[in-house]
Amino acid sequence: MRILLIEDEVALSDALAFMLKKKGYMVDVAYDGISGEEMAYTDAYDLLIVDRMLPFKEGVSMIKDIRLKGIKTPVLILTAKDAISDRVEGLDAGADDYLIKPFSTEELLARIRALSRRQNDICEGENIRVGKAILKPLHKEVEVGNETIKLTFKETQLLELFFRNRKQVITREQIINRVWGIDSEVEINIVEIYIHNLRKKLVSEHCNFAIETVRGIGYCIKEANNV
Ligand code: CA
Repeated sequence: MRILLIEDEVALSDALAFMLKKKGYMVDVAYDGISGEEMAYTDAYDLLIVDRMLPFKEGVSMIKDIRLKGIKTPVLILTAKDAISDRVEGLDAGADDYLIKPFSTEELLARIRALSRRQNDICEGENIRVGKAILKPLHKEVEVGNETIKLTFKETQLLELFFRNRKQVITREQIINRVWGIDSEVEINIVEIYIHNLRKKLVSEHCNFAIETVRGIGYCIKEANNV
């Protein structure tokens, strides 16, 4: 799961990014409203964490604008103001939840899990289930039947992307943006290499899903009905 953190207090931003990465999330950081907004338009994120008071463009108007342009990524707004009108303003602008500063990292993590569950009915705590398969991103493994298959970090992120979007075709560009990041300079054929490796690892009689190639577009995950 890839998170965009838009927070101008560098010390706080660095600490949050460090903590989130330790918890297995991929994190990109922006320090002002304009560059954060540009990054949000790439649609490479599963969640935006947006500070309310930002230089160049403040959080609420940034959220309004990305919603107007059709970006549906869930937004958690961080606010130092705790007046009810401020919270309402953030939610009305299109934020999905808010957190009042100062907050504990436990609460932030719980809100992130809640927002990702709201989007997806297949999350069980930190884990994601598709049929009988359970992906455990923190442990970098997937359980199929009584088998545990170990994955690398990137394979985990790739499989998580498929599990979270299991009714959609995902393009190679989307895979690059979400798994390697919008600034990455990897070649597009790296996607094929990773898909190939992942398929090889997932060869198991218990495996109830497959990664299918959608010619000319990308890939999608297909669940078997009879397993
Ligand atoms: Ca700020």
